[in-house]
Parts: sequence; structure tokens; C-alpha cells
Amino acid sequence: MKKLFLALIIIIFATNTYSQSFETKFSKPLGQVLQEISSRFNVKLKYDVDTVGKVVTYADFRIRPYSVEESLTNVLSMFDYKFVKQDSKTYKIKIYEYPRRTPEDGKKMLSYLNTLYKDSTEWNIRKTCLYKEVRENLTIDSLLKKRVASKPILSGIRKYDGYTVQNFALETLPGLYVCGSIYSPISKGKHGVILCPNGHWADGRYNSDEQKRFATLARMGATCVSYDLFGWGESELQVTAAAHPTSAAHVIQIMNGLTILDYMLTRKDIDASKVGVNGGSGGGSQVVLLTVLDKRITAACPTVSLASHFDGGCPCESGMPISLSCGGTNNAEMMAMFAPRPVCVVSDGKDWTVSVPELEFPYLQRIYGFYNAGNKATNIHIPAEGHDFGPSKRTAVYNFFISAFGLNAARIDETKVTVEPKEAMYSFGAKGEKMPANAIRNFSDVEKYFHKKSDAKANSNIDALTKAKSWAESLELKDKEKEARVEAVIYNHIKAVRDWHNEHPYSTIPEGINPITGKSLSNLEREVIANSAKPKLIHEALMKGLRKDLTEEQVEKVLDKFTIGKVDFTMGGYKSIVPNLTEKEESYILSQLKLAREQAVDYKSMKAISMIFEVYKNNCEKYLNDNGRNWHQMYKDFTNKIKAEKEAKKNGTEKK
Ligand code: ZN
Repeated sequence: MKKLFLALIIIIFATNTYSQSFETKFSKPLGQVLQEISSRFNVKLKYDVDTVGKVVTYADFRIRPYSVEESLTNVLSMFDYKFVKQDSKTYKIKIYEYPRRTPEDGKKMLSYLNTLYKDSTEWNIRKTCLYKEVRENLTIDSLLKKRVASKPILSGIRKYDGYTVQNFALETLPGLYVCGSIYSPISKGKHGVILCPNGHWADGRYNSDEQKRFATLARMGATCVSYDLFGWGESELQVTAAAHPTSAAHVIQIMNGLTILDYMLTRKDIDASKVGVNGGSGGGSQVVLLTVLDKRITAACPTVSLASHFDGGCPCESGMPISLSCGGTNNAEMMAMFAPRPVCVVSDGKDWTVSVPELEFPYLQRIYGFYNAGNKATNIHIPAEGHDFGPSKRTAVYNFFISAFGLNAARIDETKVTVEPKEAMYSFGAKGEKMPANAIRNFSDVEKYFHKKSDAKANSNIDALTKAKSWAESLELKDKEKEARVEAVIYNHIKAVRDWHNEHPYSTIPEGINPITGKSLSNLEREVIANSAKPKLIHEALMKGLRKDLTEEQVEKVLDKFTIGKVDFTMGGYKSIVPNLTEKEESYILSQLKLAREQAVDYKSMKAISMIFEVYKNNCEKYLNDNGRNWHQMYKDFTNKIKAEKEAKKNGTEKK
């Protein structure tokens, strides 16, 4: 018995001393640390990740005895893992997902966004930025320019009770088709159109829930257009399903929606004053983005999708970095840009939209309030249900379009709808035998249409954001909202300077003479002239934005970041060159260098920044000469001294 006890002690001791010293960083295997957290806090942990071979340094020091969540955060942050709370006693460990955050994060984000606009004027400034950058980060415009102007291939018309269905295949990029079906009311005259981008439902747009919705809306008096996701349905014949979970799908699906709308608005049976968008889940993400990109849309209904803390888990929803636009945005803010036009957010109690009544809807109402249009934003929340497009969600959609487009409520009966077999909905035949001869058969034939230059801009936006983040963080403000505002101000300035620089190259300034030297203008001088012409507002937005939240000392720190510490560095130079620099001289020089710095922050290239400093350095040298110094001589003495010191070092005769 005694022996067994001893053995047990040894085992316990051995496991506890996996590494118990500073030198080994108090390391423990991740699996063991998580087990210990589980028993310490009496919670169940589920794993979506592999813990084998992973080691936590300073393991026990990461534990916070008062909080299982803080302990998990501290441990998991080493591996880019995170936890998702499933119920009060269960956590799932997952790999970090960039498009998914927590409702708590969503709440913080919305409250931060609210600080950016106290009224409609500030909201309009924000919107202007978002309209521009969401387009840029999606890289949509370069793709739109490459479209072919084609007429859709239309199938025969199938007649049902109160509506008709017709298939279409519309060529977008050369050889690339989007296929779908148009559900039209049987009655004559013009009807509103509802674009219905698809979500990731089983069987896509052929799903009976989907068909019932399109047909019922048509029976009620709106023309509905349903179309395939990229790499789903008939698109699979062209690019295969592997093309779907890609960032290209994000752009192409939106291009498809915009191109279909272009076509629909050329038709005589469409009333262009009534353009709706409705989609569920991933289709809801498309709804939001379409409203940002196309001002022809007049009513929107994102269903079981909209949240401030989830951008959509498929790359076709979040593959392009649109949520990084203007310092960071989300689907709730992008939807708010639709104000004051009518929007209905359909949410439920069992997916990420559970937060809508508490978070996203009040936020939307605040923005709609800027337009005195609070009643134009509605939320139908179905707490007992989960993530689907079942009857109660469809009823919410019908009611919204009855009110927005004046549809006929008496025809809401879904039992009149004929659910078609999917073969009936194909344009290219069951095996693609009717596919046009010019049709692309490879995803690589599509990828070549992506504009490298706009991708470069999206990447450059990310670089700017990284810079802005690290500069704002370095101020150690201890106030997350303030830090985020400062970050946004810096980010916007970096981009404004970059865009002006790129759009106004030196070649836009005619060749000419520098009036001071009499020599031809150098390219650098022309660049500085071109950049000097940028609107004052850009500079003012930076300075006002920084001064709103920072002390003068902190503002200077940020300006130093833009100019890589040139003020200190140049001041150091003067101190070495000018013997016994007086207080008065130093203060003059410093004031000049600060002027240089504030001017230089508006230039992109380091050479241009140096040139601005040169101007003020000349002022300093003139000042010294005017006040009894001889700059030329001092500089010569200084360089001779440096030379002599070098020589002495080389000869080893330097005096200690
Ligand atoms: Zn997708």
C-alpha cells in the first residue's frame, strides 16, 4: 500500500513537472492545459482542432482563477484558436475564423460605429467612404468593365396557376454564363422586380422552399428572378463546384446580380421604380452587398443572415476584404446605408441572427432616424425557429413586399404553386448538351479576368490598415473606442494621400523651369508639385481627427510615424554640426522641423518627404548665417572631424 502510494506521488509529481522552471518557460502540452481548465472551472470542452504536439508556454500563468473565458483566451491565443460558448457549461475550441466574431464583439463594434456619426451630416461622410471602398475592396469595377453586352438565351414559357416560369442563361464575362429562372405574374402590365440571389441551401435554387417563394411572389404581382450561385447548379458545368468556395465567387456572384438587373430593367414588363432584393443565409449577404453597389434597388429583405458579428462563412460572402472598408465595417452598417428605403430584416432564435432584436435592429433604427424614417426599417424575429427559409420566414417576406410594392395579399396561398423538377429549370439540358459553343469549361479561364491592379489596391488597403492599427496601438490609449477612432483617422489619411499620389503622377505636371535654380524641373519636383495640389480637406481631416482624441504630444508621435522620426533625427544632426547650439537656435530649428513634418505627412514617397524637409532645413541654415554663424564652415569642420575620427580609428591611435 505504501509502495503504491509512493508510485502515485511520483506519477503526480512527474506530470506536474513537465516543465517547471523559468528556463523552460513553464511549458505544458496544450491538451493537458485544456483538461486542467475543464476540471478547474467544471466546464465541458469540445474540440474542432488538433492539440497533439502543441505546447503552451507559461501555461499556469495564463490561468485567471476568476474567469474560464479569460483563461481560455490567454491559452488559445498562442495557436490562433478560439472558443465558442455553446451553453453555460460547454465550450467548443475552434480555429480562428476571420468572418465570425461573437455577439459581444458585434455590440462593441456597433457602439463604436455609432460614435463615428452623431447626425446625418457625419453619416453621409461615412457613407461616401463606404460606397467607394466597398467597391474597391470587392474589386468589382474592373470586372464589370470586362462584361459582354449580350442578350439572354431564353427558354419556352411554362404556364401555371397565376404565374409563368422561363429559364434564362445570360453571358456575363466572355463565355461565362449565369443561369436562372424568371417567375412572372400572369397579369398584363408592368410589375416590380425582385432579385433573389441564392443561399447555400440543399439543392440551391431548385429547392422546393425556394421555388414556393419565387412563384408565390409572382402570383402576388412581382417578377422574381432566381439564379445559381457561382460553381453551383448549371455553373458547375462550366467551372466545377471547386470554384465556389473562392474569393472570385464573391465578386462574380455580385456581378451576376447587377448584370441580371441591367437586363431586367430593359424589359417592358418591369416597373423600374420597384426593384427588390431578397435572399436567405448566403443569399442575404448578397442582398446587403447589392444594395451598397446599386442605387436602383428600392426595397431589401435579408433573411436569416444579417448580423454585426458575422460576415458569412463562405468565401463567396467574405472572400474579398470588404469588411475592412473605411477602417472596418460589417453587414449591419452596410445595410444601414440603404436608409431611408424600406428594409425588413428576418431573424431567428437559433442562428447568429439571434442578436438582431437587441443589436442590429436598434442600430438600423438609429440610422433610419437620421431620415425620420424609423418606420421604414422592420425586423421580423422568429425566436422558436432556426436557420432555414421555412413558411414563417416566407410569410415575413410576402408581408414585407405587400407593403413595399403593394402586392396582392389575397394571393398569398402557396398551395397553388407547382414545384418543378430541377431538370425543368435547366437552360443547358441535363448534361449540359445545350451549352453554347463559346462557353468556358475551366475555372482558370475565369480567373484570368481578375484585375491584378485592383487586387493590388485591396492589398494596399490592408497594409494601410495594419500600419494604422500599429500606430494607434503604440499610443497605449487604454480606451478601445478612442483607439479605433484614431486608427480610422490614420487609415483614411494614408489612403487619401496614396490615392491622390497614384491618380496624379508627376507626368500630369508639364515640364518646366524651377524658378529658383533656373534648371529644368526634376521628376521629383514635378511629383511634389502634383501632390501639393491635393485638397486642404485631406490634411484638415487628419489634424482635426487626431486632435479630437489625442494630446498634442500624442499627435506629434503620430506625425513622427508618418515621417519616420525625421524631426528627431535632423535635430540630432544640427546638434552635432553646430558647436554650442544655443537654446534660441534650437527652438527656431525645432519649430521649422515641426512645420516640415506637418507638411510632409501629406506626401507618399520618402523622397518627396525628404524634399519637404530640405526646404525647412534651408530656412534653418539661413537663420544660422543671419545670426552670426557660418553654416558652410561649420559643416566643413564637422565633416573633417568625422573624417579624422575615422582615420584615427583605422590607425588604432584613437585616444581613450
Ligand atoms: Zn458560398
